[in-house]
Amino acid sequence: MHLKFRKSRMSKSDELIKLESEVVSPNYAPIPAVLSKAEGIWVWDVDGKKYMDCLSAYSAVNQGHLHPKIIGAAEDQMKRITLTSRAFFNDQLGKFVQKLCDFSGFEMACPMNTGAEAVETGIKVARRWGYWHKKVEKDKAEIIVCQENFHGRTTTIVGFSTDPDSFTDFGPYPAGFVTVPFGDLEALEKAITPNTVGFLVEPIQGEAGVKIPPTGYLKGAHEICKKHNVLLIADEIQTGFARTGRNFCFEHDNIKPDLVLVGKALGGGVMPVSAVLGSKEILSVLTSGSHGSTFGGNPLACAVGTAAIEVLEDEKLAEKSSELGAYFVEKLETLSKDMIMDVRGKGLLIAIEFTEKAGKAKKYVMAMKEKGLLAKQTHDTIIRFAPPLVIKKEEIDLAFGIIKESIEEIFTKL
Ligand SMILES: *Cc1c(COP(=O)(O)O)cnc(C)c1O
Repeated sequence: MHLKFRKSRMSKSDELIKLESEVVSPNYAPIPAVLSKAEGIWVWDVDGKKYMDCLSAYSAVNQGHLHPKIIGAAEDQMKRITLTSRAFFNDQLGKFVQKLCDFSGFEMACPMNTGAEAVETGIKVARRWGYWHKKVEKDKAEIIVCQENFHGRTTTIVGFSTDPDSFTDFGPYPAGFVTVPFGDLEALEKAITPNTVGFLVEPIQGEAGVKIPPTGYLKGAHEICKKHNVLLIADEIQTGFARTGRNFCFEHDNIKPDLVLVGKALGGGVMPVSAVLGSKEILSVLTSGSHGSTFGGNPLACAVGTAAIEVLEDEKLAEKSSELGAYFVEKLETLSKDMIMDVRGKGLLIAIEFTEKAGKAKKYVMAMKEKGLLAKQTHDTIIRFAPPLVIKKEEIDLAFGIIKESIEEIFTKL
């Protein structure tokens, strides 16, 4: 009786989904969970249903939702000063960048806001470095990128995307980018010309479906870049900050790229905070007036970013990610090969790829959602699992139970 009455009316979620669909540009197709509350690895929708977050806002919430230390730092800062612009100094920026440099092993950083801005900044730095230090002929600089890359959504960046969903009808596309297959060192070396200034690469291609290159790829790329005087630019926006079981994914290869692009979890799940890390020599090409951002390096972002790094250190999240990631992968590997053709991951950046027989991933994602686990398919047949790194072993057991049940239930009926 009661159920019938409820059914005839729209749920709060349905109402809000309807509202969003009417007024928000349709550039996303969200899973229908309308979230209004969160804590740690958990989120709640407006109808009170609780879910485990296994996406972490694409790895921007590595420290967990509403981490008390990060929220505390934000609250304290909000009561003092939030935005100064870089027309003036502020009392947080130096401390924050010092912390970021200590944490990453770099000398200098240029603070920005979103990941795409860090990528754009990296491109500008590499080009200027090319003209000033490598003496590349004016306006001839080339940057090598990889097939199936994801570096963000600006016009320049989508101009060198190989994903038609990203680039179609956003041209004309900028010159100066050359594409090579991901994971192929021979192709990289062949593509280098005297005008090559940088090689821009994700250590693991997250958006492409957690594509892990052959062991030693980044190390090999580093050697090739050194040999030809080309900057290795690692996009660690998704793989950085303990996601793959080390503070940065490049650490697995025991190398130090020339430039590292960071974002996402640097903002502790609170606000966009990004940066380009590099040596003093390279980043010094950003002379006064040549680059900037109204919000980049603002005191609120800096206070949040400092706390976000401290949490990673205090809670040893890289080690946790390494251990629990291996545990999660081990469990996922027990799923039938009839359904899952590949399980791959590094740390808690994990993906499963369905067999042709199992078909598209979306139906499994929806089943998991019904059972209280939020994940998102990437492309048609892959699901990425990237929970906040504060997840516990028992919670991974719980997640695995939901994943297994959801897939098996549907698969057996196919
Ligand atoms: C998310 C992401 C970006 C873009 O970051 P935004 O903050 O969305 O602009 C760039 N590179 C990689 C590898 C990413 O995962």
